[in-house]
Amino acid sequence: MSGVVVSQNEVLFERAQKTIPGGVNSPVRAFRSVGGTPRFFKRANGPYVWDADDKRYIDYIGSWGPAVLGHAHPEVIKAVQDAAVGGLSFGAPTEGEIVMAETLCEMLPSMEQVRLVSSGTEATMSAIRLARGFTGRDTIVKFEGCYHGHADSLLVKAGSGLLTFGNPTSAGVPEDFAKHTRVLDYNNVEQLHELFKASGSSIACVIVEPVAGNMNLIRPSHEFLNTLRELCTQHGAVLIFDEVMTGFRVGPQGVQGVYGITPDLTTLGKIIGGGMPMGAFGGRKDIMACIAPLGPVYQAGTLSGNPVAVAAGLTTMCLLKQEGFYQTLEAQTRKLVEAFNQVAYAHGETFCADSIGGMFGIYFSEKVPTTFAEVSASNRDRFNKFFHAMLDAGVYLAPSAYEAGFVSVTHDDAVIEATKVAIDRAFAAIK
Ligand SMILES: *Cc1c(COP(=O)(O)O)cnc(C)c1O
Repeated sequence: MSGVVVSQNEVLFERAQKTIPGGVNSPVRAFRSVGGTPRFFKRANGPYVWDADDKRYIDYIGSWGPAVLGHAHPEVIKAVQDAAVGGLSFGAPTEGEIVMAETLCEMLPSMEQVRLVSSGTEATMSAIRLARGFTGRDTIVKFEGCYHGHADSLLVKAGSGLLTFGNPTSAGVPEDFAKHTRVLDYNNVEQLHELFKASGSSIACVIVEPVAGNMNLIRPSHEFLNTLRELCTQHGAVLIFDEVMTGFRVGPQGVQGVYGITPDLTTLGKIIGGGMPMGAFGGRKDIMACIAPLGPVYQAGTLSGNPVAVAAGLTTMCLLKQEGFYQTLEAQTRKLVEAFNQVAYAHGETFCADSIGGMFGIYFSEKVPTTFAEVSASNRDRFNKFFHAMLDAGVYLAPSAYEAGFVSVTHDDAVIEATKVAIDRAFAAIK
């Protein structure tokens, strides 16, 4: 007998696959792109998560963004407990929803009115419908590598680039839907000009991750975002900033605050729910007035504005409004990126890292990519090896070279220093 201890993660993964397709309720969790067994988590606190074997990891996913205060913040937990005692859901309006809407509108100057939903997907799907209803046009424009949730018309990746009709990325999306979605290259201003010149009057909206975080972290050029704003205004198209990930992550006013650009509509999710299911979409009052019950664009939700989710979200928003919150978040993320770069350099790796606010990207390439094609050209095999070496060393990174990473304010200097030691061990292990 070898005495090998079976990992509980493996036991659970085997069991999960019997009743859940692929063993997971959201595909990237299955570790398909990096291989190996996904970690099943039991609990989380501050910067840490514990798996089914009680192994502790420093967590750089933070539930894909929401855990910006660190996991299980005591004030958020207390707010959730108090709300739960008062009833889990009413299907009727509450005062908490008003406070949540007031808070969002106060923090994001572009947001005059807002509606709460239960996920980022619902937010983007509703914003697209609204833009179409408002303009009376069908065509929507998105960018390759940007993810906007899994609504049909947004699950279109790319045809052969400019002016070609989109090909559905997912099976089950009818060509009839996909043909209304045009896909352009991120950061490509010429393609934008060409498309608007050729068909500007049929474009209902452009939806963009104003800093992309779903093809690893990609910064927009100022010219790209400025051109988007100008062309949408000129042609009467609605500019939608999908800030589901970047909202309250890159700064107190999202990317629109960092770059000084005012979108017509903004979609939110992740952080605004504080770890509970919540999304939101909002913006110009004249556009929002098209939604039912005021206007003809239908949108609804049994659990929209759920009191427990609102309690978690509001408490989170209050805490991140505190003086110095974003300075700390940004500084810690910067320190992490420097640690990655320093250690990689010492090991002679082809590697670079970048960050904006509380999100970061690591790339196995010589320079920081600016397009989906450049991200795709990075060394994914090397990433996968590094990912597993980091897991062994007790650091949980996103299980794909196409995802950004997230830091919380509980990632203090000691945690960053421990991460740096793990990075050194991981690079040594994959020599
Ligand atoms: C996560 C994400 C979504 C989808 O949000 P869900 O809550 O997963 O439906 C949409 N857009 C962006 C930019 C995201 O990062």
